[in-house]
Amino acid sequence: MNRDEMISKITETKKIYDFVVIGGGATGIGIALEAAARGYAVVLLEKSDFAKSTSSKSTKLVHGGVRYLAQGNVGLVREAVIERGLLAKNAPHLVKDQSFVIPTHGLFDEIKYTVGLTLYDWLAGSLSLGKSKRINKKKTLKRISTIKPDKISAGVVYHDGQFDDTRLAINSLQTAVEQGALALNYAGVTSVLKNDNGKICGVTFVDEETGITHQLNAKQVVNATGVFADHVLKMDSPNAQKTIAPSQGVHVVLDQSFLPGTDAIMIPKTDDGRVLFLVPWHNKVVVGTTDTPVEQESLEPVALEEEIDFILRTATRYLTKAPKRNDVLSVFAGLRPLAASNEKGKKTKEISRSHKIFTTNSGLLTMVGGKWTTYRKMGEDLVDQAEKNQGWPKTQTQTKDLKIHGYQANVDLHNPLYFYGSDQELLLHLAKQNTWEGSISTALGVIEAQVVWAVRFEMARTVEDFLARRTRCQLLDAKESLEMAPKVAEIMAKELGKDLEWQQQQLADYKAVTANYIL
Ligand SMILES: Cc1cc2nc3c(=O)[nH]c(=O)nc-3n(C[C@H](O)[C@H](O)[C@H](O)COP(=O)(O)OP(=O)(O)OC[C@H]3O[C@@H](n4cnc5c(N)ncnc54)[C@H](O)[C@@H]3O)c2cc1C
Repeated sequence: MNRDEMISKITETKKIYDFVVIGGGATGIGIALEAAARGYAVVLLEKSDFAKSTSSKSTKLVHGGVRYLAQGNVGLVREAVIERGLLAKNAPHLVKDQSFVIPTHGLFDEIKYTVGLTLYDWLAGSLSLGKSKRINKKKTLKRISTIKPDKISAGVVYHDGQFDDTRLAINSLQTAVEQGALALNYAGVTSVLKNDNGKICGVTFVDEETGITHQLNAKQVVNATGVFADHVLKMDSPNAQKTIAPSQGVHVVLDQSFLPGTDAIMIPKTDDGRVLFLVPWHNKVVVGTTDTPVEQESLEPVALEEEIDFILRTATRYLTKAPKRNDVLSVFAGLRPLAASNEKGKKTKEISRSHKIFTTNSGLLTMVGGKWTTYRKMGEDLVDQAEKNQGWPKTQTQTKDLKIHGYQANVDLHNPLYFYGSDQELLLHLAKQNTWEGSISTALGVIEAQVVWAVRFEMARTVEDFLARRTRCQLLDAKESLEMAPKVAEIMAKELGKDLEWQQQQLADYKAVTANYIL
């Protein structure tokens, strides 16, 4: 994953690629991985950093979606729980079994959730992560010491997966590259190319670092740009209909003392009928989310005051220690790329979360909707559709058993570097050899070698890439991440051959963007 090497490989040949995938979030990465694994020649182009947009702002759950089961969407849940099992098997260093406790209010609740979650387990079959069960009030209070006793009658425990979204993005891309794909960040597609028959045969893209425009030829161009899908559709046809209804979801991050222990809490019905999760993550607690329709898509959406208030207010109803604004270590917002077509007038929480594929007259394939949990299956479905559209011989998926880069079973979750999986040994070797063992943050357990590693092997190009997505410092403790930024800039500048002016600009940029994560 060396950017200079990638860009020369992509631009030096006049090759016609099988696939050019536009967008380096969960969707684009899942497609590139599947296509490369089936032996196709693939290039993935990402305008910003990989997973910069929605794919870094998830609730960090690999889940079937208990809520969708309640809505009777059994097919969607079945697909997702199977994918959950496959992901836990193929990326055990990033996906772990997470137990959730649903606090119940009376016998009806207890029966409803016990029965519902037994069905949830049953749908996963042999890929279930653990059995659901009712636990009495005493046991519930023992497992979750900070829950208000007067709020509950008992609890129902169930299991889902929990993961690190951007680490999965980077490791999946590395896997795709190992399968022969080429991938480039800071490469924004600006137009699609068409042949004499009006069929799309490539794209132009700008190297955002140099400003140079390049042209790429491809048999199949794929639009995997999430909430930005309509922009690419307009490149294809200026009169293209609107297909996306973005909906914002906000999370706040709190200290572990608000939810000590290993269980997460799932509140199935908040005041306005939503679901709220409180999930332990990297020694902090992620609390969210909201579901607020927004008009404008953005790479850096900003949490609304009412969304923050709603999360803190709902958590306060359940926790003995009420979280206040100044307890919030970070707040982040992401936009769901919900498919809007044919579903006008519905509230966003009712709009289908399943993925959709459609082909334009000129052959552009667009994939919208879906979720991180099903990114592999989305890749499979898209490549199947491309084979059909192109009249290529039908091939089988190659990703069901494909181990994700860094694969390591039985990682020690107490080790702050656990998420590197099998790379950890190499990283520590690099640290020892070059005396890069110095700490950048003792609070977040980050060492200097991680910066060098991110630049050399994970295509980190900016201070934000490192602090927000190669590590999760910005989301875990935004103020602490600002303290770390100067050291990160200094190490990156050395690795990338940049000057003091670059460092200063990086710090200013990082400070500006991180201001949105601090209350
Ligand atoms: C609040 C919230 C919580 C969620 N929680 C979960 C969860 O717990 N579990 C789960 O499974 N799913 C979850 N999801 C869903 C999941 O995060 C999304 O479905 C997924 O991340 C969408 O990925 P994407 O690749 O389609 O979009 P994005 O991540 O937005 O990626 C699209 C990319 O395209 C790039 N792009 C745009 N235009 C261009 C261009 N012209 N050229 C090149 N690149 C371009 C953008 O920069 C962007 O990086 C959640 C979503 C939200 C909003």
